[in-house]
Amino acid sequence: MLRMLRAACYLCRAQNCVPNGHIKIATAFVVEAEKACWHSPNNNRGFSRKSHTFLPKIFRKMSAQSSKDRPENLQFPFLDDDATISTVKESKTVFIIRGLPGSGKSTLARAIQDQYKDACKVISADNYKIIPAIRSSIPEDYSKLDEDLDNYCKRDISVVVVDDTHHERERLDQLFDIADKYQYEVLFVEPKTPWKMDCLQLKDKNQWKLSVEDLKKMKPSLEKDFLPVYYGWFLSKKSSEHLRKTGQAFLDELGNLKAFKKESKYFLPDEDPKIKLDLTGHFAKRPPGVLHCTTKFTDFGKALGADEYAQQEVVKASYGKAFTLTISALFLTTKTVGARLELSEQELLLWPGDVDKILPIDNLPKGSRAHITLGCANGIEPVQTGIDLLEFVKLEKAGNKV
Ligand code: NAP
Repeated sequence: MLRMLRAACYLCRAQNCVPNGHIKIATAFVVEAEKACWHSPNNNRGFSRKSHTFLPKIFRKMSAQSSKDRPENLQFPFLDDDATISTVKESKTVFIIRGLPGSGKSTLARAIQDQYKDACKVISADNYKIIPAIRSSIPEDYSKLDEDLDNYCKRDISVVVVDDTHHERERLDQLFDIADKYQYEVLFVEPKTPWKMDCLQLKDKNQWKLSVEDLKKMKPSLEKDFLPVYYGWFLSKKSSEHLRKTGQAFLDELGNLKAFKKESKYFLPDEDPKIKLDLTGHFAKRPPGVLHCTTKFTDFGKALGADEYAQQEVVKASYGKAFTLTISALFLTTKTVGARLELSEQELLLWPGDVDKILPIDNLPKGSRAHITLGCANGIEPVQTGIDLLEFVKLEKAGNKV
């Protein structure tokens, strides 16, 4: 299966709850458990928690000043937007810079280095004497570059920039393997220079003295849009770890609750009801890497409405930009455990119009399905978490207290 571009990112931090949020959750459960029926997704319950995050003012000032003089073609959220910069700093990201030789990739790489300073390492294919070309296989010369990339990732450097033409799908797959191995998010970046696809101008600008013909051969693969498996908000490493811990505490407290023991037969039928219910063991399938909220599942472009979604201006403009997601509840069914999100107006612009229903006749508010999967029971796929949440919302709409 084509592995490339698994996910297209919007970055985000989760808006955190009070420090002992899980205690509140557990208390809420005791009250609700009397009425809850835990064996069916139709009857599960959610628990609320909210609060605020903010950026220090001093940071905001510094960042605004440094972006002022940057030309328009070097304006990107990860260079200019304070929230994005601080989110990138608390994440692990590989920036893959793509483009024809002479299109401005190295200038872009330098701008990223300037912004992230010691938190950033740049790897430029030029320094490994790799000549951009159309070729039948990926040259051996990449092994030293990959070794260096591997070393930076191993050291958990927050920002690693790979500056190369990246016109070959096979090469991108190799980079994805390394990023996956060390649980880095990948962001594709292309220069926005006016001449980036103009082979006549590029002929004079590229340091390899490639001819117009050489450049023209490379151009089509760089013009193609590859759709990922899915688009989504990816939590920063810090937020992800925090939410995982909160989810864990939620399961631990629930497993210990007397009231919940009555429901244990739906989770582990053979378990002695006197023993603590091992919900962590029950939800043994956990998301790999950082947690995320899927917006549109595009299935490499095969899913219904995938192209239309990807072509929207707001989608393109938000790629790689940071958001702050608000978690309004944690919920579980026998199949899945997840966090429910309350999307802001701006976030709803990225929410597809066709995902908030189980049956075609369902008429639920936009964003009803917004969630982060925290875990699945054996044999259950993560897509189920969204379906379970929609069942809750339907119950809520029908006047049930959740
Ligand atoms: P995947 O099947 O490739 O799905 C990728 C993401 O898209 C998931 O987060 C999933 O659900 C969402 N999704 C899948 N099908 C969808 C559909 N038809 N409509 C809407 N959204 C859909 O899974 P993966 O993330 O690569 O998982 C890799 C491995 O990790 C698998 O073995 C999987 O079972 C395991 N795992 C993953 C998660 C997870 O959250 N990604 C959780 C537990 C276990 P959600 O958006 O609801 O999460």
